[in-house]
Amino acid sequence: REYSNAYGETRTHIVKIGNVELGGDEPVIIAGPCAVEDRDALFRIAEQAKEAGAHILRGGVFKPRSSVHSFQGLGASGEAGAIEALTWLKEAGEKFGMPVVTEVRGEAQAALVSQYVDIIQIGSRNMYDQDLLQTAARTKLPIIFKRHFGASIEEFLSFAEYIAAEGNKDIILCERGIVPVGKGKNYTRYQLDLSAVPVVQKETFLPIIVDPSHATGRRDLIRPMSLAAMAAGASGLMIEVHDRPEEALCDASQMISPAELKEIIGLARQIRQIT
Ligand code: PEP
Ligand code: MN
Repeated sequence: REYSNAYGETRTHIVKIGNVELGGDEPVIIAGPCAVEDRDALFRIAEQAKEAGAHILRGGVFKPRSSVHSFQGLGASGEAGAIEALTWLKEAGEKFGMPVVTEVRGEAQAALVSQYVDIIQIGSRNMYDQDLLQTAARTKLPIIFKRHFGASIEEFLSFAEYIAAEGNKDIILCERGIVPVGKGKNYTRYQLDLSAVPVVQKETFLPIIVDPSHATGRRDLIRPMSLAAMAAGASGLMIEVHDRPEEALCDASQMISPAELKEIIGLARQIRQIT
């Protein structure tokens, strides 16, 4: 417990990504489609997300889908496809003034992705992959590190150490829901563990954000869970947004419109002012 988990730190480590400061007073909104689908769609969504108040653009190129038969992201078609999608992401970020983030699913992707993005995301499913954590950390880019849906908070912080121990302290922890309990329906994709936010803030100096999209899987729950996350003290939100939510190639059920995003961001700011 010498790095990211250090007890007794008195303030949150601020991660600087271009002009964006994550971990300070302003909630940082990361928004964008689940996956980069095509150039025009990405540019439309980026423009509308920016207009809605988002700070950082997200978009998956290598998607960690549960089924190999689902759309795997443009990166799955080979290096040319990956480069094309990464280039669109970079250009959309530059055009609309937003740093960009995408997920790295395997070590082999880290070097390529790091040439195009401002932040690397380690997805929930790869939280335990020490080699991937170390390889991503060595790019020296900030890392969004998502909690595995079966990981305790202690494990989550313990694995974050693999990044910090490489000398990379620009770690943005992300709570994205844990496995639901019981036999019957829980009505959500995962269960958002909001107590992780204040707990993590007591146990480490790393900022923590919340992803209500993957946590709930339901567009009607993005607003209440975003506001609850703000009330819990999260440093930011990661929200999936699409200009044609129903037509998104992945995670359509949790996709919200840019107009809805704008309302949520406005309310999130108000909550941050009173907490
Ligand atoms: C994502 O953010 O694109 C994603 C797949 O999330 P998670 O790893 O939390 O499932
Ligand atoms: Mn998704």
